[in-house]
Amino acid sequence: MLKGYDCIVIGGGIIGLSCAYHLAKSNKSVLVLERDDIGSGTSGACDHMILLQSKAPGLPLKLAMSSLEIYREWQSELEEDIEFATRGGMILIDKPEHIPVMEDFVKRQRSIGLNVEILDKKQIKKKQPWINDNVIASTYSPDDSQVNPFRVLFALLKKSAKLGVELIRNAEVVEIRKNSYFWEVRTSSNQSYNSHIVVNAAGVWSGKVASLVGFNLPIRPKRGQIVVTEPIEEIGETDAWDANYIISKHLSHFDRDEISKRLGLGFAMSRTHSGNYLIGSTREYVGFNKSTTYEALQAIIRRAVELFPIFSKVRIIRSFAGLRPACEDGKYIIGEDPSNSGFFIATGHEGDGIALAPITGKLVSDLICGRKPVFEIDEISPSRFYSQITSGIVNK
Ligand SMILES: Cc1cc2nc3c(=O)[nH]c(=O)nc-3n(C[C@H](O)[C@H](O)[C@H](O)COP(=O)(O)OP(=O)(O)OC[C@H]3O[C@@H](n4cnc5c(N)ncnc54)[C@H](O)[C@@H]3O)c2cc1C
Repeated sequence: MLKGYDCIVIGGGIIGLSCAYHLAKSNKSVLVLERDDIGSGTSGACDHMILLQSKAPGLPLKLAMSSLEIYREWQSELEEDIEFATRGGMILIDKPEHIPVMEDFVKRQRSIGLNVEILDKKQIKKKQPWINDNVIASTYSPDDSQVNPFRVLFALLKKSAKLGVELIRNAEVVEIRKNSYFWEVRTSSNQSYNSHIVVNAAGVWSGKVASLVGFNLPIRPKRGQIVVTEPIEEIGETDAWDANYIISKHLSHFDRDEISKRLGLGFAMSRTHSGNYLIGSTREYVGFNKSTTYEALQAIIRRAVELFPIFSKVRIIRSFAGLRPACEDGKYIIGEDPSNSGFFIATGHEGDGIALAPITGKLVSDLICGRKPVFEIDEISPSRFYSQITSGIVNK
């Protein structure tokens, strides 16, 4: 007799654990199957931002704003310190040709309701006294926030366990079959479990998991490299990015120098709870290669010193790389596979999964429990890959 659950979640990253938690809050019995350990994937090798300003003005921004509200609630609800902080954020502009791009971006974000404005040099200097004079303008939002992803993972795990969620580590899912009533999910150690619902939250590996039910999910890893400084005093009031970050994320066709374009370089600088600065980052398609490269680290540090010369006096203590789960059309994938009833997908968050984990778990549990999601999410449904069949991109 197989052990049965209402829902099996595949993947113990921040997306899988948020789905599991929300499902448990809706009184579902939940099993999480994790190939390795909690946070062994991208959620353990990333930045920590709930960054609103980087989100495309449309559904992504609306989801991020809603997610931020859930994080605010999680501070007390999860009964653990998740190192939530709202430091605000600035996107620095040091090239005149980037001003109209950022003005347009800000205008569209404001129309969605984001509290964001453009600052002049004097206002910038007040918030960032160590900034290079080359910076000619900047955006500013007081709402950009952060958490510690590891603490969120463990807080979710602990709170979910209290609600009855079970986790099995070292349990790689290798087979998923539907019999007349249940999904039967088998792991590499030949253990099988059954459930009414399966949620594929396997991050950059979700394509492989989807292929077990014959679904061709177009997810590719996009590498990001980060350097970590020694702990230092705050060098400014807010965290900061540069306009290249927005360009490499949303406007990759924009003309840039060869190295920046090839590495997908965009400056990101944020201060952790313990005073270390995380400085990044790149956006590279290099398969599942998680190494850092001398070229990229050098380019990241060069840019940091260019924008904040004070960094030339700060020691780098380590570097790492993580793989963003990127969908080929640049959109998240949240919803049910239309040809596999009861098989749900929650992935494709690329560089936004920490920010969007709370709302993703809520949307997934709303769909599974038959509640109307708070947002119209057709544009991020897996069904879109089926509607492409007529245009030649064939699924199955
Ligand atoms: C450099 C970098 C910086 C980033 N900065 C930010 C940021 O500041 N803000 C933000 O919002 N986002 C950021 N992100 C993105 C964010 O980290 C990801 O979107 C998010 O972590 C993805 O979470 P996930 O749960 O989908 O994937 P993962 O954390 O990778 O979890 C998937 C899990 O599935 C497991 N798994 C895989 N296959 C199987 C299987 N067959 N059976 C069982 N388990 C399986 C894996 O072991 C893994 O633990 C960043 C990413 C990178 C790389």
